[in-house]
Amino acid sequence: MKILITGGAGFIGSHLSKFHLSKGDEVLVVDNFLTGNQDNLGHLASQNLKIINRDVSKYDFMDLSDIDYAYSLASPASPVQYKKYPIETMLANSQGTFHLMEALKQNKIKRVVIASTSEVYGDPLEHPQVETYFGNVNPAGERSCYDESKRFSEAMGMTYFMKYKADIRIARIFNTYGPNMELNDGRVVSNFITQALQNKDITIYGNGKQTRSFCYVSDLVEGLSLLQETDGLSGEIINLGNPTEKTVFELATIIKKMVLSNSEIIFKEIGADDPKKRRPDITKAVNLLKWEPKVSLEDGLNKTIDYFRSKIV
Ligand code: NAD
Ligand code: UDP
Repeated sequence: MKILITGGAGFIGSHLSKFHLSKGDEVLVVDNFLTGNQDNLGHLASQNLKIINRDVSKYDFMDLSDIDYAYSLASPASPVQYKKYPIETMLANSQGTFHLMEALKQNKIKRVVIASTSEVYGDPLEHPQVETYFGNVNPAGERSCYDESKRFSEAMGMTYFMKYKADIRIARIFNTYGPNMELNDGRVVSNFITQALQNKDITIYGNGKQTRSFCYVSDLVEGLSLLQETDGLSGEIINLGNPTEKTVFELATIIKKMVLSNSEIIFKEIGADDPKKRRPDITKAVNLLKWEPKVSLEDGLNKTIDYFRSKIV
């Protein structure tokens, strides 16, 4: 199989690249290294891995052919990163998705999985979040560059599906963590582990009562590949995430304890529109993909802490 992974040098993309290489697939990564890292792919060097250093908002994929499966992952994902690169984020998710959809329409690619996000639900008024919920999103706030461009990306994909019967599938990914997250990308799991390992203050934004549901990356990769490989799912939108919900305060305490850290837990100002709660309803994934996460938070955090320890010490 010939696989295209945009954003393949990033956290999730590097695990997905490894997964497909281990199956003997040929993997083409398109990445401009805006938030990704060559080191994530360094240990995967193989004849079957080709890295194309291009920006998906400028590259039209037209020199490629015979791609069986494409994953559209190219976009900053951490709030710190997308607030730093808001225009790049909007262009990656709009123009970048358009380029992939045109390549799909012209049969350069047979099937595309679009990486969307739980952020399309915004600060949700329904809990847990089901795929049929339209969300509660601020269209003009500091998270809008990400939330609205991901919503646009979904709309673009669905339009190609409805108008041209293009084979697209949309994954609404909920907070995922694991090795290969950048130490300084600002997400909560990487921040807390780094802070705990260095005995620095663990920074909770707001009162820590906001919730998230954390999925280990190997579970997510399995879900994404099933969404890609299962026939008959064209035009489907599916939540992928782990429904085990924790408050941010609970997460800080768990990590502090696991690391045996002397860090203080401190409270800092929270950014605008930070969702107060988030948990996926994964009934659709269970039914259509026969998938559910297997890795417990404790096991996943252990593996992630080991990885960060090897990077810090
Ligand atoms: P990441 O920042 O680690 O990886 C993103 C990759 O995309 C990086 O390698 C980056 O260099 C590349 N990229 C960014 N803009 C690009 C452009 N214009 N052209 C080419 N490459 C570009 O993030 P991640 O956590 O691996 O997320 C991957 C995808 O999954 C993103 O689309 C993200 O929105 C989505 N997602 C992730 C999560 C999560 O919890 N990790 C949750 C929801 C959705
Ligand atoms: N957060 C925090 N301290 C940090 C980083 C994040 O309290 O050092 C909070 C953040 O305000 C949010 C949650 O943790 O409520 C998850 O943040 P993250 O940036 O990982 O992703 P989000 O789910 O907001 O996209």
